[in-house]
Amino acid sequence: MPHYADFHRRSIDERDAFWAEQARLIDWQTPPQQVCDYSNPPFAKWFVGGTTNLCHNAVDRHLAARGQQNALVAISTETNTERAYSYAELHQEVQRMAACLQALGVKQGDRVLIYMPMIAEAAFAMLACTRIGAIHSVVFGGFASSSLATRIEDAQPVVIVSADAGSRGGKVVPYKPLLDDAIELSAHKPAAVLMVNRGLAPASLRAGRDHDWATLRASHMDTLVPCVWIESTQPSYTLYTSGTTGKPKGVQRDTGGYTVALASSMRHIFQGNPGDTYFCTSDIGWVVGHSYIIYGPLIAGMTTILYEGLPIRPDAGIWWSIVEKYKVTHMFSAPTAVRVLKKQDPAYLSKYDISSLKALWLAGEPLDEPTATWISGALNVPIIDNYWQTETGWPILTLCNGVEQQPSRFGSPGKAVYGYNVKLIDEATGEELTVPNQKGVVAIEGPLPPGCLQTVWRDDDRFVNTYWKSIPGRLIYSTFDWGIRDADGYYFILGRTDDVINVAGHRLGTREIEECISSHANIAEVAVVGVADQLKGQVALAFAVPRNTTGLETPEARAALEAEVMKVVDGQLGAVARPARVHFVTVLPKTRSGKLLRRALQAVAERRDPGDLTTMEDPAALQQIKDLIS
Ligand code: ATP
Ligand code: MG
Repeated sequence: MPHYADFHRRSIDERDAFWAEQARLIDWQTPPQQVCDYSNPPFAKWFVGGTTNLCHNAVDRHLAARGQQNALVAISTETNTERAYSYAELHQEVQRMAACLQALGVKQGDRVLIYMPMIAEAAFAMLACTRIGAIHSVVFGGFASSSLATRIEDAQPVVIVSADAGSRGGKVVPYKPLLDDAIELSAHKPAAVLMVNRGLAPASLRAGRDHDWATLRASHMDTLVPCVWIESTQPSYTLYTSGTTGKPKGVQRDTGGYTVALASSMRHIFQGNPGDTYFCTSDIGWVVGHSYIIYGPLIAGMTTILYEGLPIRPDAGIWWSIVEKYKVTHMFSAPTAVRVLKKQDPAYLSKYDISSLKALWLAGEPLDEPTATWISGALNVPIIDNYWQTETGWPILTLCNGVEQQPSRFGSPGKAVYGYNVKLIDEATGEELTVPNQKGVVAIEGPLPPGCLQTVWRDDDRFVNTYWKSIPGRLIYSTFDWGIRDADGYYFILGRTDDVINVAGHRLGTREIEECISSHANIAEVAVVGVADQLKGQVALAFAVPRNTTGLETPEARAALEAEVMKVVDGQLGAVARPARVHFVTVLPKTRSGKLLRRALQAVAERRDPGDLTTMEDPAALQQIKDLIS
């Protein structure tokens, strides 16, 4: 087994030879003529001239060896249904969906917008698109009409695939009225809408535009739709970033590079083998869902679990009962979900036989050390943090245990993943920081490896100007995250570059203060923001969710806990980092993907306009903060 440092070095120094080897992990109709064309930086083209198909690699490729194996298991604790599809059945359903899309006029290169709940048909629709070379744009189901309308205008879809409703915590969310409004609002009108009827909410079909999936499907039961061979650099999909720092950006993904990157990540990062079972608790509306609910596990010939429901309903044992029942080997979730479980009875975590589970990967937000330690103790499986972005499509930092087993260091997402030439840059000078434990911007030297964004959809200028021009004097991709690297190559993410606060001349990462506060036994979750202060420039304000609120009813009790929290910060980071106030709230403002909306929190704390809130989960969370501040 090669030593990881050598493996990584080779991926950079012998880039083309390295990726030519990885490219053999997938099927090509015509092999690539050139591994990487970086003649026009920062635009990288991977596997130029090769033709392949994402759906072929995810589905058809496995038919001979594992046609009868489960490919997709769709579990809903909202409708209490479980549906399993073998690779052969998935192959058939995807062709039926593809035939319907073609019947509605979809051709290669056309866009199809998918606005769906977490049901099997959403997976069929994504795979049907990539099968025929249509570009999908999945929009998180239940997004408000105005957010959906902007995405319809941006993607200009020929067809929209949707459903009557989603369901969350037992509450039905009708989609059709939202969709109708969005189409009304949008300047672009789709030629057709394909509606899956789950029988959850009334959804009237508009004659001439809307079609019922069950009816149309019935006339395509045996239609064969072969995979269209796509040139590697042709787009497979577009997807928006979470909108945590501002207006979401439309990421454009290629075909060949993405397929290779995912196949390679399943081997070197996840050690996934055909026949294993992968349970990723994300949503298909996010990049994690694209890569590790749908494409990655299927490319690897695994069984993938698509779950509609909450982690605590009917009770906090639901995920582990799924692990037991389906002998899940790989699990992927987010720190925010773990923090939800942390507030529940820990007995649920030991109630089921989860011995099939090899590891739990977590991504999306900083995994603080106390949370990592807690879940690791509760589950007794390796906990592996991984850091990436919608833009990259697969991890930038993690442990590549398929190359070499390396120990987790809680608080760190691990080392630079092969293919990524990660650098820490001094924001002011643009110089690379090479001495361990210096703080800098996490940046990636081009070309970005296969799988990463090709550009911003229909906006090359925004791609170049947003990502590649932020560091003075050099063309380098900025992640806009701030971090340090220790002497062994482990990185620690300190927060977003805009979340660095400056208290009386001291630069502090809000993440450092949050990590420290969350080590207090009665704090489940905390957000720290910097707010303008006449005396010190900025001061830190903390908003914390207590684990246990009994006894916190009186102002005196809250003041006592506040003082305790401040003492913890004084002890660990020094008085300079001590928040001016620690406010207690029941919920923090988050995006639909579970990310802390620190920018909105900060704006409200500074009595400014919170800006674009289209991806926000629960508006009540921000109201609570407003009430506290005023
Ligand atoms: P937008 O770019 O629209 O503001 P966003 O950055 O939240 O939204 P995503 O692409 O979903 O959109 O999230 C990527 C970001 O999430 C990273 O840049 C980083 O800030 C954070 N992140 C993801 N995984 C981790 C992790 N394991 N540790 C720390 N931070 C993480
Ligand atoms: Mg981002």
